[in-house]
Amino acid sequence: MEPGRNAEPASHSRLSTFETCPLQYRFRYVDRIPREEVSVESFLGTSIHAALERLYGCAREGRVPPLEEVLAEFTAGWRQAYLPHVRIRRTRYTGEDYRLQGEAILARYFRDHHPFDEDVTLGLEERIEADLAPGGEYRFAGVIDRLARVQDGTLVIHDYKTSSFLPGVEKLRGDRQLPLYQIAIQQQRPEEKRVRLVWHFVAYARRIELSLAPEELESVRAGALGLIERILSEKEFPPRESALCDWCDYQAICPVGRRRAERAGSSLGPRPA
Ligand code: SF4
Repeated sequence: MEPGRNAEPASHSRLSTFETCPLQYRFRYVDRIPREEVSVESFLGTSIHAALERLYGCAREGRVPPLEEVLAEFTAGWRQAYLPHVRIRRTRYTGEDYRLQGEAILARYFRDHHPFDEDVTLGLEERIEADLAPGGEYRFAGVIDRLARVQDGTLVIHDYKTSSFLPGVEKLRGDRQLPLYQIAIQQQRPEEKRVRLVWHFVAYARRIELSLAPEELESVRAGALGLIERILSEKEFPPRESALCDWCDYQAICPVGRRRAERAGSSLGPRPA
């Protein structure tokens, strides 16, 4: 299935997957090979997003739950959803270590933002779509973690990052995801002239804010469009080996991934026919 053009819209993870490794992209989006495992880091991220969505949902209705309740719900959700297919690569840690890490992240976020009145929440996990070119053939879709409005009328797009990587401001200026969300929002609501982007690197309790100039947004749009066109013209989908191979869901069926795993001495099961 083609991304963007006359088909399902491209997403940030789809575009990033291609940049990370074209072969991984092919496994996931062309061959549609289901992922049988989920990394514990991804599970932690999903669990924290769900907890923050619940928290801001309550706050929007005028009832900020106490921290104990937030943590209890996080743990209940974690235990309910935690399944054997959650994969832990760093074997010196257990699933319980990651759950406790999630609790610590949430507790810190809660204390830093309580009583959650810095802005007015307009939407949670809000799905958006943008046209990247006239004619509606190249579309981008995503989900905004939280959309809010501050007192001076500025619209704020909040995004929670749970990764252990903390980029600098200049790197975020070249980011694609949130600027494309802004483009989508301003296409849907052209009257919104002032928009701010906020990344929350929750594992570091760091918040980074940017307001982008129109030419910066245009550069992101053109870059995303160019990438979609590259994907559409790709025929080979070559593997791209990197440290990320160790977290790749398709390591067991990828020749490069298998070689790496064999070198590292781990078993990935029988080689596919
Ligand atoms: S193991 Fe590495 S090279 Fe193979 S598909 Fe995954 S990311 Fe690509």
